[in-house]
Amino acid sequence: MAGKNILSDNLRRVRERMAAAAVRAGRDPAQVRLVVVTKQADPAAVRQLVELGELDLGESRVQDLQQRVADVGQFLVRRNEGLQPTVRWHMVGHLQRNKVRPLLPLVHMIHSVDTLRLAETLDQAAARLEQGGPSPLAGPAAAAGGSDRRPNAGAGRRLPVLLEINCSGESQKFGAAVGAAECLVEQIATLPRLELRGLMTMAPRTDDPEQARPVFVRLREVFEDIAGGRRAGPAFADLSMGMSQDFEAAIEEGATLVRIGTAIFAGV
Ligand SMILES: *Cc1c(COP(=O)(O)O)cnc(C)c1O
Repeated sequence: MAGKNILSDNLRRVRERMAAAAVRAGRDPAQVRLVVVTKQADPAAVRQLVELGELDLGESRVQDLQQRVADVGQFLVRRNEGLQPTVRWHMVGHLQRNKVRPLLPLVHMIHSVDTLRLAETLDQAAARLEQGGPSPLAGPAAAAGGSDRRPNAGAGRRLPVLLEINCSGESQKFGAAVGAAECLVEQIATLPRLELRGLMTMAPRTDDPEQARPVFVRLREVFEDIAGGRRAGPAFADLSMGMSQDFEAAIEEGATLVRIGTAIFAGV
């Protein structure tokens, strides 16, 4: 299938560029994880991604993520793999507090925590989920996998989250201010059901990755200041930064998670 060949070619090229960027910076390429952002892909392309072994997938809206989980779940059930904990879904876009409940049972990691209130809402919802409250997995998702497909179910599991920081000033709507980062990290680290894994940022959209680089440098500096202290905890190790236009610069500046869509689905 032509689409599939294009997709696998795109993936291979992106992975080669990721590895080369890591090597240029003297880093081990295995330290950088690719999250394929599927928001612009059609369902067939997403299924092909899974067949190609891409298991870290991201969406930027809760409703879209729910639809993807249902769709991919049905696909895996047809292949008799429905109960395998296969795809890890990443929520990368802005999250409203009233969308937390349906999202939580489906998601592997949330990259976009940007207020203490949102973190507290997530913590409370995670506690409720652990107590075995009514499964929000009604409808197609439940049909696709039943209550066993709850990546966040299970005693003692904490929900991995990242704190989103606005490193570029007013050009971005979401994300906590740089000056608030340390205080927020301390507060989020006290929430028992969350595991604060690190920081995330979005650079302004630009065709020139060198314009994005200072944003990535800034996030790494904020990260290092915080990671040097004691409050953040040992799990505080991730930097989610870099998209199709600028992921190489982000990796050179220390990204451990890159979120890439357009470069992977172009021409598919
Ligand atoms: C869409 C999106 C991406 C991927 O962007 P591309 O330019 O398509 O690679 C990454 N992060 C977030 C938060 C997004 O919304």
